[in-house]
Amino acid sequence: MQAKHASVNAELQLDEQAYGQDPIANRETDLYRGEYIMSFVEKWDELIDWDARADSEGQFFIDILRARGKETVLDVATGTGFHSVRLTRAGFNVTSADGSAAMLAKAFENGQKRSMILKTVQADWRWLNRDIQGKYDAIICLGNSFTHLHDEKDRRRALAEFYAALKHDGILILDQRNYDSMLDHGYSNKHKYYYAGEKVKAEPTYIDEGLARFNYSFPDGSEYTLNMCPIRKNYMRRLLSEAGFERVRTYGDFQESYAESEPDFFIHIAEKS
Ligand code: SAM
Repeated sequence: MQAKHASVNAELQLDEQAYGQDPIANRETDLYRGEYIMSFVEKWDELIDWDARADSEGQFFIDILRARGKETVLDVATGTGFHSVRLTRAGFNVTSADGSAAMLAKAFENGQKRSMILKTVQADWRWLNRDIQGKYDAIICLGNSFTHLHDEKDRRRALAEFYAALKHDGILILDQRNYDSMLDHGYSNKHKYYYAGEKVKAEPTYIDEGLARFNYSFPDGSEYTLNMCPIRKNYMRRLLSEAGFERVRTYGDFQESYAESEPDFFIHIAEKS
């Protein structure tokens, strides 16, 4: 425990993203803590323009949760709090978790600005049930977050933790970029990622079967990167089934029917029973 808190303090003081000598060789699940440094977190809300994002996703998640009578929601990838705030405002009982202390601090501040006290918990998905209490009606893992996991054993472990944190009829809502399209057809500029703000350029700068490296450039000239694992849609669906979820339905950019290469994002709705 002592060591964990020491590393959290160190994380808050980093002022440069930590990739080492060869950034494209860095494919570690633990990398995310060194990627979301304070200055990037501060910029994140410019990147994910909240109003534009709310417009583009509409009521999608709220409708899915309400239609199934869900009330308690665990946001496992809170980030700066966009979905935690939206769902709290819509009347859900939300707990906001994230492995990054810097992200959670920003989320809490964003909640306060909107007269909400978010219930925040710092928790890495791989040890989720050690840090959260109780079982939830729904878990959301949004914004392409799951693809921070670079090892298959970490993906399986995280899904097992999500499964265990859900009630017997709980649902997991997890999204991912359409990496199939990027791997098979290359990156296409006609796509505008749904949560990128107007003034921020977000683009992949490198892709192979094991790494998609994204670059984010801001109007003040600052640049940040994220090293993600480009997992394919059907592989993700298989992992969800193998974790024990009975049904998995996959939407493309919030639509039930779509041409495979068209959507920017896939959204998986996995039902426990
Ligand atoms: N959901 C937010 C959104 O859509 O704006 C944030 C998305 S951000 C791309 C990914 C988030 O996942 C970060 O806040 C990061 O700290 C968190 N994260 C990545 N790997 C994690 C892990 N293993 N355990 C817990 N949180 C993790």
